[in-house]
Amino acid sequence: MNVLIDETTLRAGVDRLAMEIENRYRDKPLTLVGVLLGSVVFLADLMRRLTIPYGLEMISSRQMTDENSSQGPLIIQADLLAPEVAGRHVLIIDDIYDTGETLWQLIPQFDEFKVASVHAAVLLRKKGRQRVPLGPTLVGFEIPDVFVVGYGMDHHGRFRHLPYIAALSPEEMKDSGRTRG
Ligand code: 5GP
Ligand code: MG
Repeated sequence: MNVLIDETTLRAGVDRLAMEIENRYRDKPLTLVGVLLGSVVFLADLMRRLTIPYGLEMISSRQMTDENSSQGPLIIQADLLAPEVAGRHVLIIDDIYDTGETLWQLIPQFDEFKVASVHAAVLLRKKGRQRVPLGPTLVGFEIPDVFVVGYGMDHHGRFRHLPYIAALSPEEMKDSGRTRG
């Protein structure tokens, strides 16, 4: 396993993102919308860094089972979410921007909820994978096209606990797939 972003670097990146969010949304009604599951550690750290008020909501996206499979449909409980975000500035919080399909599916749905604005902040953006003409407004780190785990992100349910972000080699992915966590 190859460490891509160590704990100190991660902390500095999350600090910088928190500052950018504060500058952008100061004196605006802000709601963070976390995309489960991989974003929870990033989200929890970000929440503790922010000193401006914000609301919090969560939505689910189906888990990605291997590096090439596409995400399942995003499950949004529109009846619960719509009244919470109407008139507010929504900032979607996700772990990785990869092909962009997740954001591509999500953003138009928020427009229907009559939000004041909708943008996304992601911890990581993979280079050279984007398939849609829409990206996150705030990015923590650019990474190469490798499969990463740790800091909330998993491979078959494993490695979410790692305090750093590491790249898994194809061999390690095969082994990890055999011994599910
Ligand atoms: P997109 O819709 O942008 O292709 O997919 C982004 C989602 O795919 C991320 O939120 C994440 O759940 C998953 N994903 C993409 N690349 C990786 C990766 O390298 N490692 C892990 N653990 N998940 C990934
Ligand atoms: Mg995700």
